[in-house]
Amino acid sequence: MLRTLNKTNLRQLTGLIQRFQSTLVVAEHNNDTLTPITLNAITAASKLGGEVSCLVAGTNCAKVAEQISKVKGVTKVLVAQHDTYKGGLPEELTPLILATQKQFSFTHICAGASAFGKNLLPRVAAKLDVAPISDIIEIKSPDTFVRTIYAGNALSTVKCNESVKVLTVRGTSFEAAETVGGNATSEEVSSGSPVEVSEWLEQNLTKSDRPELTSAKVVVSGGRGLKSGDNFKLLYNLADKLNAAVGASRAAVDAGYVPNDMQVGQTGKIVAPELYIAVGISGAIQHLAGMKDSKTIVAINKDPEAPIFQVADYGLVADLFKVVPELTAALK
Ligand SMILES: Cc1cc2nc3c(=O)[nH]c(=O)nc-3n(C[C@H](O)[C@H](O)[C@H](O)COP(=O)(O)OP(=O)(O)OC[C@H]3O[C@@H](n4cnc5c(N)ncnc54)[C@H](O)[C@@H]3O)c2cc1C
Repeated sequence: MLRTLNKTNLRQLTGLIQRFQSTLVVAEHNNDTLTPITLNAITAASKLGGEVSCLVAGTNCAKVAEQISKVKGVTKVLVAQHDTYKGGLPEELTPLILATQKQFSFTHICAGASAFGKNLLPRVAAKLDVAPISDIIEIKSPDTFVRTIYAGNALSTVKCNESVKVLTVRGTSFEAAETVGGNATSEEVSSGSPVEVSEWLEQNLTKSDRPELTSAKVVVSGGRGLKSGDNFKLLYNLADKLNAAVGASRAAVDAGYVPNDMQVGQTGKIVAPELYIAVGISGAIQHLAGMKDSKTIVAINKDPEAPIFQVADYGLVADLFKVVPELTAALK
């Protein structure tokens, strides 16, 4: 007999459906430490309901597997160790994820919307013949997600009817899962023989003593108003006083003032620090797309009409070459 649902048993049904979900989070790491965005992806996975498993694939990643097993909300850690997983190449990780999916039949597969996740999950989705949903900022239900469109100017709510939902998660939209309190089991998985269509040669990472841009609590960013790469020294001095990361607008990157790993915005990094200080940045929508979720925004610009003042909590209409050194000197 078919029963009509009232509000109470609709809630029970939602709970029941959520219990049957099971999500695989693909961990991003360097064999030694977990990349923080994985913790945000774990929180998103927990919101889907059901069990959360984490895949840790690497060359010598026992330490990371151990870290993840303690993360709150993770029930199982799947570990795959092989030389072919060096550098996290999507060509090698995809068959592993497909084999894991075949074994465990997850309802969702997700990763952080970082270069790693954006590189990997579309390939996984294509191989599973499902449409991926990228850069989600909210989970309405196990099949309905919110993501931004038009450089963050509109929100799109997407219902996904695929048998397995493949998602990347915007790190700044979900709290990081707690790194203690979990007690996950561990299991080994493998994908069979290596694909060997591509080879990891090397990576040259920028070394910096400053905090990482996407996870820093304070970010000082400079734009074309800085006029040269040398003048960014003003921002580095200020950042050192605040233990801040330094970012930049695309115009500053394109002009060659700073490297492109410092770019904040639609085609750069998405940040949401406690404090974002925009110096000599006009506030184009593509820049705002990367920083407008910051808790407090301070803008320093000599043009009172600059659009950045529309999103700023505090604005200083002034010449940056005068006020930035003054501000730096005033900070103890
Ligand atoms: C598809 C696409 C993607 C894009 N992605 C990004 C992105 O990811 N990130 C991004 O930032 N942009 C992006 N852009 C570029 C974006 O549209 C803007 O061109 C760029 O953000 C402008 O950078 P800016 O504010 O530094 O430069 P400008 O717009 O030239 O602004 C410089 C500001 O400095 C101020 N200024 C000058 N001198 C001083 C001084 N002495 N003291 C104080 N203020 C001063 C000026 O008043 C001005 O407001 C993208 C564009 C496109 C089309």
